[in-house]
Amino acid sequence: MTTMTPDAAGLAALEARLKQDLAWLELPAKSWVPRRLVDGESVVDVVIVGAGMAGLVASAMLRRLGVDNQLVLDRARAGEEGPWVTFARMRTLRSPKELTGPAMGMPALTFRAFYEAQYGRQAWQALDRAPRTMWMDYLIWYRKVLDLPVRNGVSVERIHARTDELFALDISGGGTSRQILARHVVLATGRDGLGGAYVPSLCDGIDRRFWAHSSAPIDFERLRGRRVAVVGAGASAMDNAAMALEAGAARLDLFIRRADIPRVNKFTGIGSQGVVHGFAGLSDDWKWRFLDHTLKAQTPPPRQSVLRVSAYPQAHFHLASPIDDLVVAGDHLTVTTPKGRYATDFIIFGTGFKVDLALRDELAEFAPHIRFWCDRFPAPDGMDNAELENSPDLGDSFQFLEKEPGACPMLARLHCFNYPATLSHGKLSGDIPAISEGADRLARGIVRRLFVRPSPRRNSPATNGRMPTSPINPPNRRNRTGKREMQTNRKAIAAAIAGNALEWYDFTVFALMTPVIKNLFFPVDPKISGSEINALLLTTALFGTGFFMRPIGGLVLGYFGDRKGRKAAMTLGMGIMAVSVALLALTPTYATAGIAAPLIVLLARLLQGFSVGGEFGTSTAYLIEAAPPGRTGFYGSWQIAGQLMANVLGAVLGAALTLAFTPEQLAAGAWRIPFFVGLVIVPILLYMRASVIEPEASRRSMATLHKDNFIAALKNPGRNFLIGMGMVVASAVSFYVTFGYTVTYAKEVLKLPLMQSFLVQMIAAIVMVIVVPIAGAVSDRYPRRPLLLVSLIGYFVSLYPLYAWVISEPSIARLLVAQIVIGFFSAFFLGVYCTTLVELFPIRVRSTALAIVNNVAVLVFGGFAQFFVTWLIALTGSPLAPIFYVMIGVGLGLIAVIAMRPEDAEREQVPDGVVEQAS
Ligand SMILES: Cc1cc2nc3c(=O)[nH]c(=O)nc-3n(C[C@H](O)[C@H](O)[C@H](O)COP(=O)(O)OP(=O)(O)OC[C@H]3O[C@@H](n4cnc5c(N)ncnc54)[C@H](O)[C@@H]3O)c2cc1C
Repeated sequence: MTTMTPDAAGLAALEARLKQDLAWLELPAKSWVPRRLVDGESVVDVVIVGAGMAGLVASAMLRRLGVDNQLVLDRARAGEEGPWVTFARMRTLRSPKELTGPAMGMPALTFRAFYEAQYGRQAWQALDRAPRTMWMDYLIWYRKVLDLPVRNGVSVERIHARTDELFALDISGGGTSRQILARHVVLATGRDGLGGAYVPSLCDGIDRRFWAHSSAPIDFERLRGRRVAVVGAGASAMDNAAMALEAGAARLDLFIRRADIPRVNKFTGIGSQGVVHGFAGLSDDWKWRFLDHTLKAQTPPPRQSVLRVSAYPQAHFHLASPIDDLVVAGDHLTVTTPKGRYATDFIIFGTGFKVDLALRDELAEFAPHIRFWCDRFPAPDGMDNAELENSPDLGDSFQFLEKEPGACPMLARLHCFNYPATLSHGKLSGDIPAISEGADRLARGIVRRLFVRPSPRRNSPATNGRMPTSPINPPNRRNRTGKREMQTNRKAIAAAIAGNALEWYDFTVFALMTPVIKNLFFPVDPKISGSEINALLLTTALFGTGFFMRPIGGLVLGYFGDRKGRKAAMTLGMGIMAVSVALLALTPTYATAGIAAPLIVLLARLLQGFSVGGEFGTSTAYLIEAAPPGRTGFYGSWQIAGQLMANVLGAVLGAALTLAFTPEQLAAGAWRIPFFVGLVIVPILLYMRASVIEPEASRRSMATLHKDNFIAALKNPGRNFLIGMGMVVASAVSFYVTFGYTVTYAKEVLKLPLMQSFLVQMIAAIVMVIVVPIAGAVSDRYPRRPLLLVSLIGYFVSLYPLYAWVISEPSIARLLVAQIVIGFFSAFFLGVYCTTLVELFPIRVRSTALAIVNNVAVLVFGGFAQFFVTWLIALTGSPLAPIFYVMIGVGLGLIAVIAMRPEDAEREQVPDGVVEQAS
C-alpha cells in the first residue's frame, strides 16, 4: 500500500476543507488568558512535555479552548516522537484503522480523511490496518495543519515548584540549557512516562551486548545467522521476534510465562463511549476490579504479528516457560526454564514498562509527594496487582494529588497525561481510541483552573504587594491605577528611547560639524605644508577616539547595569553624556585657550564614546524589560525608530545651519547651536531617567547575582554572541552605509546634486521611521525569526539590482526609488531585530552582553565603514563597492538568523513565554 503515489492535490483539498470547518466552528476559540509577566519574564500558561500523540492532542484541545500561550517540548527530533518510527516494530498499527483517535470529533482531521484524500476511497476499503509509518506521517500532518507550538530537540530535565505558584522548568537542547516559567505542566511523556522499561532482575550484571529491551534500538542485521530469544507474549515481544526472523536469525525461542497465548482482548470494550465516559464514575473498588480483570487476562498479540513469527520453521514457542535463570556461558547465554535449558546468543525482553519515579529525573522534586493508589487504597482480596498499586492517584483533570495534604500544593498544576493514568481515568491518555476524550477532560480542567485560580502575581514577591492582575479580572486599562501605571510606563520608555536618540543626535552633529571644528581646534598654519590635512586627520582621529571608547564604556556601564540596575546605569551614562555635551558646547577655541582647547574636545569625545558605548545595552535591556507583556517587539523597535529620528534631526539641523549661515558665521560660533540644543535636552532626560522605576526583572536578577555566577552566566550563551554580532553587523551597515553614506555617495560617486540627494535620504529615513514600529508590532503577533529572514533576504536581494539600475543612469528619481525599497527592507529588519537581540541573552548578564555584542560589531563594521567603503571603491574602481560592503554585512546578518535555533526563536513566537536564565 505504501508504494502507491499519494495525491498531493487531494491532501491540499482536505486541508482547505479542514480550514473551512474550523472557520465555521469559530475555532480555535479566541485567546482569553491574560499574559503573565513575573520577574520581568513571561510565563507560559501550559507547557506540555512530550509531542507524541497525547501531547499533540492536548495542545490542540487547549488551543481550541483559547489557551494559546502554550509550548509542547519533545527531546526527539521532529517526526520521530513516540514509538512509531523508532522502536515500534509492527508493520501496521495494532488497532483498527477506523479509530478516530486524535481527531477531536472533526471528520477532516481523521486518519481516514488523511488516507482517502491521498489514496482514494477504494484504497481505504482495501486497507486492513493503518501502516505504522503512515500513522507517523498522519501525526506530522496533524501537527502541521493545526499549527501546534512544538519544539523538538528540547529535553525537560527538571521541574521545580516555585513559591509563587509557578513551575520553573530546566530545559536543555542543542548544547545549552535554560529555564522557562509555566503555570501548568502536562506530562504527555508516553508509555514509560513515569518510569522506564521493565527488565527482570535476571539481567542484573549481564553484559549489555547479550540483551536489550524491546523499546531500545536494536541492530537486527547483527542477529543474522544467530540464536535469538524473546521473552513475553505481548504484541511487542511478537514483533521483535518477527524482526529477528526476518533479519535471518538462525533460531528463535519465544519464552512465554503463560500456559497459553491470550486470544480475547478484554480491553476492546474500553473504547466504547460508555466506558470512556463512565469509567471515571465508577467507585475505586470497581475501577480496580475492572482493570485487574482486564490486565490479568492480558492483551493478546495481534494475529498478524503471531503469523509473522509462526511462518518461520526456526521459531519455537515455549509456553509455561518463565525464565528461572539466565547466565553467560562463554560467548552466549544459557536460559533455564522449568521445561529445559537453551543456548542463545541474544535475548530481547518484550516485558513492558514500569512506574518508577526514581527513573524520572524531571520529577525528582515531586516524587516524595505524589500519591499512588497503594498509599490510600487497599487492594480487594485476591486482587493484588503491582501495576495498579503503582498507579498515580489523579484528580479530575489528570493532576497529581498530594500524599500529605498541603505538603506540595503545586501538584494540582502538574498533570499526568500518560498511560499510568489509566486506573484513575480509564484508557484515555495513551492509546488511540479515546485520546481526544482524555485531552478534552484534561484541557477543560486546566481551563477551569486558569480561569478560577488567583493570578500567580497575587502572592508573588515580584509584585511587592502591588495589586495583582487576576486572570478573571484582566488588566483594566481604564481604571485610575492602570492609567497611572501606563503613563509611568510610557514616560520610562520615552526616557530610554530619547537618551539613546540623543547620543545619536550628538554623533550626527559632531560628524557634520567636523569640517568647521577642525579649523577652530586644530588651526591651519599656512607656513607648514600639510597642516590642513593634519587638522582634518586630527579631528577625524577625535571622531575615532569616540569609537574606541565605546567598548570600554559598554563593558563598564553594561556591567554596572547588570549589577546595580538599568536605571542606575542609564542615569550615570546620561550624566556623563551631559558633561560631554556641555564641554563641546562651551569649550573655547584654540585661538582663546591654546592647546587646552583640543584637549578639552578630546576629553569630551572620550566621555561621549564612553557613554554611547554603555547606552545601547542598558537602555535596550531596560526598554524590553519595562515593556508590557506581549508588546516587547513594538517597544524594542522604538529604540531604532528613535535612533533614526535623531539622525534625521541632526542631519536636518546641520543642513539648516549650513544654509542659514555663511562659513564665517559658522566658525564664529553658529556651529555651537546644535550642541546647545543637546545641552538643553540633557537635563530633561537626566531628570526623566532618574525618576524611572527599575524593572522588576532586573531588580530580582541583581538580588541573586554574584561575581562568580555572573561570569558563568556570561559564558553560557557563547554562540548567542556570534548570532547577536551577525545581526548587529547587518544593523551597523544599514545605519552607517545604507543610511549614513548615501548623501556623500550620491554627490561624490553619482555626481548628483547635494541638496536633492539629502532630501532623498530624508524621505527614505521617514519611510523607515514609519516602517520600524510597524515591524516591531508585527513581531509581537508573528514569530520573529521568519520576519527577520524575509526582511534580510529582501534587503540582500534588492541591493545589487537596484543600485546597478541607479548607476546605469544616475538620477534623483532612481535614487529615491532605490532608497525607499532598500529602506523598507532594512527598516523591517531593524524593527524586529532589537528585541530579538535582547532576548538572546539571560537577564542577569543582558546589558553587559548587549554592550559587548553591539560595540564589537559596530566598531568593526560601523566605525570603519566609511574607510572600508572608500578603500573598496579605490581598490575595485567600481561604484558598486559600497553595495558589496552592505551585502557582506546583510549576508552575515542572514547567516546569524539562519543559525538561530528554533528554541531561540521560541521567545519570538511566545514572546512572554521562554525565559533564558543562567543555569
Ligand atoms: C510499540 C508500541 C506500539 C503501539 N501500537 C499501538 C497501536 O497500534 N494502537 C494504539 O492504540 N496504541 C498503540 N500503542 C500505545 C500508544 O498509542 C502509544 O504508546 C502512543 O505513542 C502513546 O502516545 P503518547 O503521546 O502518550 O506517548 P509517546 O508517543 O511515547 O510520546 C511521548 C513523548 O514524550 C517525549 N518525552 C518524554 N520525556 C520527555 C522529557 N523529559 N523531555 C522532553 N520530551 C520527553 C518522548 O521523546 C516522546 O516523544 C503502542 C505503543 C507502543 C510502545
